[in-house]
Amino acid sequence: MSEVISARALRELIGGWLKAGIRVAGPRRVATDQVAYAWLDRPEDCLLGGYIHPHNSIKEFFFPRHESLYEYRIEGKKIALKNPEPLADERIVIGARPCDAAAMPILDHVFNWDFKDPFYNRRREQTTVVTLACREHDHECFCTSVGLGPDAERGSDVMLYELDGDMYEVRCVTDKGGNLMAGRTETSQLTGSVPPGPAKKFDLAYLRETIGSKFESPVWTEATLRCMACGACAYTCPTCHCFDIVDEGNARGGIRAKNWDACQFPMFTLHASGHNPRNTQPQRQRQRVMHKFSIYPDKFGDVLCTGCGNCTRHCSVHLGVQTVLEAAEKSWRNATV
Ligand code: SF4
Ligand code: SF4
Repeated sequence: MSEVISARALRELIGGWLKAGIRVAGPRRVATDQVAYAWLDRPEDCLLGGYIHPHNSIKEFFFPRHESLYEYRIEGKKIALKNPEPLADERIVIGARPCDAAAMPILDHVFNWDFKDPFYNRRREQTTVVTLACREHDHECFCTSVGLGPDAERGSDVMLYELDGDMYEVRCVTDKGGNLMAGRTETSQLTGSVPPGPAKKFDLAYLRETIGSKFESPVWTEATLRCMACGACAYTCPTCHCFDIVDEGNARGGIRAKNWDACQFPMFTLHASGHNPRNTQPQRQRQRVMHKFSIYPDKFGDVLCTGCGNCTRHCSVHLGVQTVLEAAEKSWRNATV
């Protein structure tokens, strides 16, 4: 037995959420050739059928590109600080890919480690994630190589499976998801399933064991020399989370802002002295891959990658974690023969 909802009833449900003032985000066409996760104005704009891999990730609904931490106003010798209003509204992300949803519990570690980020945590509490299991994948997908899969439930509150006849099976994964869908589904004999997903692209256990001793490996230069430092990989990645804190304003007042940054930018590590400890692009690429597959998992137990493939898919020179790890595994295994 299962719980199902028709595509029409699901659209009506989205429309009801929007009418009730709930902010709802989902895959939406934002340009002729571009689909992105974005806030929805109308239920019919939400794309829920077929193969859709939005250009961005859902992290921006929890960790926005730009946010004000507080306002400051300077009057004479007095400085007044004002905190932003706490986020009060309920929010829903619908149509997330499993590889996007899985990023959220991985990011929870870093936003709750030495400091509990109230902005991030409030958005996590206020947001329900409804995920659509993948029936198709492209050449860049490699979720199965990092322990996930086309219907991995990690990070999802509800998982939807497309069924024949414009129906979805609804599996509630958390209490939050159960509350969202309570009374909205009907019992059925139909159950959803998905194909096994992409073939494994690399041996994660081998790479995790080996990568820590390969800091000086020539593969970092050989495999990444073509990188142009554009940062598209980091900005479209669901797990990259570098940010910078800057004051934006003038001598009378302004805001202290948190803005996305990326380890692929030459200025990311540039010291005021002019010295740059990572002064070549291969060094920055090594940092990105080692952070994801050595430093972060050593500290928090999770690799900082869900195999979404965005870093390669959106790279104009077809470079990304997958291409670098494939080259690294090949090089390091050959070196030990
Ligand atoms: S790997 Fe590709 S997307 Fe990332 S910074 Fe280099 S050129 Fe840009
Ligand atoms: S590193 Fe690449 S494949 Fe892994 S989660 Fe980030 S964008 Fe996706």
